[in-house]
Amino acid sequence: MATTDRQATTLALAHALSAAERGLAVIPLSRTKLPALRSPHHDDHTPNGRCHGECGAFGHGVYDASTDPVRIRELFAAAPWATGYGIACGLPPHHLIGVDLDTKSGTDSSAALRELALRHLFTIPDTVVVLTPSGGRHLWLTGPPDAAVPNSAGRLAPGIDIRGAGGYLVGPGSRTDHGTYTTAPGTAHLAPAACPPA
Ligand SMILES: [Zn+2]
Repeated sequence: MATTDRQATTLALAHALSAAERGLAVIPLSRTKLPALRSPHHDDHTPNGRCHGECGAFGHGVYDASTDPVRIRELFAAAPWATGYGIACGLPPHHLIGVDLDTKSGTDSSAALRELALRHLFTIPDTVVVLTPSGGRHLWLTGPPDAAVPNSAGRLAPGIDIRGAGGYLVGPGSRTDHGTYTTAPGTAHLAPAACPPA
């Protein structure tokens, strides 16, 4: 089991480094999909919750995210229990936005997205699609550099969550308690497409 976990960590690091090569900033994630590194301010009762890494320590969630391979290796070395990685949204150069199409609640979020597209006259571009272990899909889009797109849950339509600035997406190749995240066939080589302005 220990060997398997170590292999999972090495595999997650390899996937994270390859995402970073594409300009995507990453952090190590645990099997629960949460940032693997605990906050250095966890036991602090002083109002340090606003530290976004200025203290220099690891453990600031998405604020730890980096595209620097040296730093990514350091982050994973500090979290040898990591089995996945998260991709920070909203950062240059891609200003990544994740459209999280959920299936858990029994809603057909893909149909809801198609309906939104018809109503607001946009098309859903060919882009990277990540399949989640629960049968959901993450569409990767790029946002405008001049406007921060916030996180939202179910605001566009039931079952459609948006991962924007300050959020992260579980990267393909990540292992979690529920299974492995993979790219949908034929989409791994695509660049994230521009988000329709509508
Ligand atoms: Zn800090």
